[in-house]
Amino acid sequence: MLPLVALVGRPNVGKSTLFNALTRSRAALVHDEPGVTRDRHYGVCRRVEDRPFMVVDTGGISGEDEGLAGLTAQQSGAAIDEADIVVFVVDAKHAPLPVDEEILRRLRRTGKPVLLALNKIDAADAHEAGAEYARLGVADVIRLSAAHQRGVDELVDEILERL
Ligand code: GDP
Ligand code: MG
Repeated sequence: MLPLVALVGRPNVGKSTLFNALTRSRAALVHDEPGVTRDRHYGVCRRVEDRPFMVVDTGGISGEDEGLAGLTAQQSGAAIDEADIVVFVVDAKHAPLPVDEEILRRLRRTGKPVLLALNKIDAADAHEAGAEYARLGVADVIRLSAAHQRGVDELVDEILERL
């Protein structure tokens, strides 16, 4: 069995785009509408050829626990539970919301390694966003642009260091 890395975070932060970048496929559905990926979706990352790992894309945690959004968050919870490492994806264009802190508390309870992927740095002031998200207290922050394939290899290196 390959090790498993879960991509979690709020809807629309770029999890599926990152999944595609990592697995170099168009398998994950990328969409402008928040919450498009409602099931877990698996792929293999072979960016470092002799060290493949599995990646699971998740539907996004919105903070609503009713209805479809709640179901999606449960799916994310299941992905977190089965993962060896969690990549917490956030959108650098927007400051962290209370739900981000909730997600982080949930992640910390697992005791698993957590990497903070500060995505969309192509469209944000990376310095400002870095300072905002530094407040969350995650030591390991990787700045990236999944859509432009920037920082993805660095993220893979950080993942491999922790597997
Ligand atoms: P998910 O809901 O977290 O899976 O987010 P998606 O991967 O579906 O992306 C949501 C939106 O953000 C889409 O319009 C993407 O094209 C856009 N997006 C994803 N990554 C980036 C990025 O690195 N830079 C920019 N500017 N947009 C991005
Ligand atoms: Mg998605």
